[in-house]
Amino acid sequence: MTLSIGIGYDIHRFQEGRPLKLGGVLVPWPRGLTGHSDADVLLHAIMDALLGAAGLGDLGQHFPPHDPAYAGADSLGLLRRVRELVREAGLEPLSVDATVIAQEPPLAPHLPAMRRTIARELGLEETQVNVKAKSHEGLGALGRGEGIAALAVALLSRRSP
Ligand code: MG
Repeated sequence: MTLSIGIGYDIHRFQEGRPLKLGGVLVPWPRGLTGHSDADVLLHAIMDALLGAAGLGDLGQHFPPHDPAYAGADSLGLLRRVRELVREAGLEPLSVDATVIAQEPPLAPHLPAMRRTIARELGLEETQVNVKAKSHEGLGALGRGEGIAALAVALLSRRSP
């Protein structure tokens, strides 16, 4: 079995009045993230990690950010599509680990739902998916709560021909 690893990173700014979607979960908060799609920064980082591990480039190549087809797109739907692309390329996800960097809101109560949602969409057990949250210790733009960033790694196995 050949293993392949990918890394993903994304960052989005806060915007008043937008819903906050993280890991496919609606987090109750007065501000959401700005973006062409639903701006789910965590799913975007995970998709880039999956595409990276499969040697399939990045999210923007598959879902161009200015394409009207993806305006307000549900990132869970995009994750489903990425899972298909990865499988068509002959690879299977084995595990995903991710960290959300957010000064606010407190995310600990929402992490189990994110983990469950991501595992379900990828056809994985919950033990194969991990989601963590960190504050930014008040440092820089993230520390001032101007946006949220996410990091992810994905491990894939390549099916034998
Ligand atoms: Mg993004």
